[in-house]
Amino acid sequence: SLKGKTAIITGSNSGIGLGVAHELARAGADVVLNSFTDREEDHQIAKDLGAEHGVTARYVKGDLSKPEEARGLIETVGACDILVNNAGIQHVAPIQDFPTEKWDQIIAIMLSAAFHTTAAALPLMRKAGWGRVVNIASAHGLTASPYKVAYVSAKHGVVGMTKVVALETAKEPITVNAICPGYVKTPLVEAQIPDTAKEYDMSEEEAVEQVILARQPSKEFATTEQIGGTAVFLCSDAAAQITGTTISVDGGWTAL
Ligand code: NAD
Repeated sequence: SLKGKTAIITGSNSGIGLGVAHELARAGADVVLNSFTDREEDHQIAKDLGAEHGVTARYVKGDLSKPEEARGLIETVGACDILVNNAGIQHVAPIQDFPTEKWDQIIAIMLSAAFHTTAAALPLMRKAGWGRVVNIASAHGLTASPYKVAYVSAKHGVVGMTKVVALETAKEPITVNAICPGYVKTPLVEAQIPDTAKEYDMSEEEAVEQVILARQPSKEFATTEQIGGTAVFLCSDAAAQITGTTISVDGGWTAL
């Protein structure tokens, strides 16, 4: 059980981050949710999650594109046994048209933020004598697709950072790993299904199988619960000697 552990999950008011928070809380961890907004509904999501699992849950605003806010998130909470670096965005364009601001923003939120939060969290883990860093990378941390230069670069960077920090903590009761999801059914992905079907003049089922899941041999989306379950496993004693590696949850994508 993760009872008594504090888990900070970045970018967790929706999608995979929220799913991971639910599974960590189900396993007993107190959780800290985060995003860049500070709406009443953000705090309500934390309240509901805490009530559902009988753990302490709160929401802490922090814009992860800003180094001081990334570090500030960890420092404000003041305890971090489990750090899940999840916040992310996407932008799709050929490199010659790729806006510099988008490149900077994606690298900041998905790569630099993980550097800052990890640097701030390790001293807290060392003080507690236990720690887990779980980076949510992607199949795009291991393979590439055209027009996603910033995303693929950031995710490959996260996989590299995972290995470095694992080596720096190898002799300590701390592990550092990355989960590499293929396509996961989140509200964001779900919203693309009708548009894709229209664009290709297909049924929604065909659009999912032939377009969205073209590279996912299982032809099924992973779920946020499955990503969360993988994170819980990485936090378990069974995974204590798993460090510096990636676990793909991609229906066979990277086996192709
Ligand atoms: P999502 O849009 O539902 O979640 C992204 C989260 O990041 C949101 O909570 C959002 O508020 C937050 N966020 C965005 N910018 C932020 C900022 N500046 N500061 C703080 N938080 C910020 O998308 P998702 O699909 O759940 O993605 C979560 C992670 O999983 C991302 O890193 C993504 O690259 C990765 N991933 C997703 C898929 C997929 O198929 N959905 C596949 C592989 C990897």
